[in-house]
Amino acid sequence: MIQLPEVIKGAVEALTRLPGVGEKTAFRMVMNMTNWKSSELTSVGSALASLQHLKLCQECGMFADDNLCSICANETRQHTQTLCVVENASDLMAIEKSGTFKGVYHILGGVLNPLLGVGPDELKMDVLRDKIIKNQIQEIILAVNPSVEGDATCSYMKSILPETVQVERIGFGVPIGGSLEYLDPMTITKALENRKRF
Ligand SMILES: [Zn+2]
Repeated sequence: MIQLPEVIKGAVEALTRLPGVGEKTAFRMVMNMTNWKSSELTSVGSALASLQHLKLCQECGMFADDNLCSICANETRQHTQTLCVVENASDLMAIEKSGTFKGVYHILGGVLNPLLGVGPDELKMDVLRDKIIKNQIQEIILAVNPSVEGDATCSYMKSILPETVQVERIGFGVPIGGSLEYLDPMTITKALENRKRF
């Protein structure tokens, strides 16, 4: 069997780090790229390298070009005094795609999971509480995925917030153990409409 050049092996290995890309697929991609012009290869390489300079919004934790993401920079959305708490950036994007929610977000970065050592401190829940109080948020929508850990996270959230803040959790339509990321915009719209006082 032929020994492939180290450069090809290295490129294949690099691509297999991506989710859903196995060795076969990576090899096909690399074979295709061997026909590219050097300028094309350089531009893909530098686009990927630029990811290391990606900023996070200081308010919500979403990816941003500047200190604030386009949602937090939008005063109309700030004025709604409604905050939607999500687990990650993919969930935020899924809700945005539904076009239903007009307030601002907060990315938790996960859910409480004592077995994995994720407690309120790891999720900076005290920072979130202070932000809610400081920004006079009136309504919180917990768009946390349904799971035992998600339930515990919502209960904890509710327990640390002042009683004057209305806390709701997105309703049915989201399957138990499901993830917002994989739902269609219509289901997300329904889940937001069917939210319940938590
Ligand atoms: Zn933001």
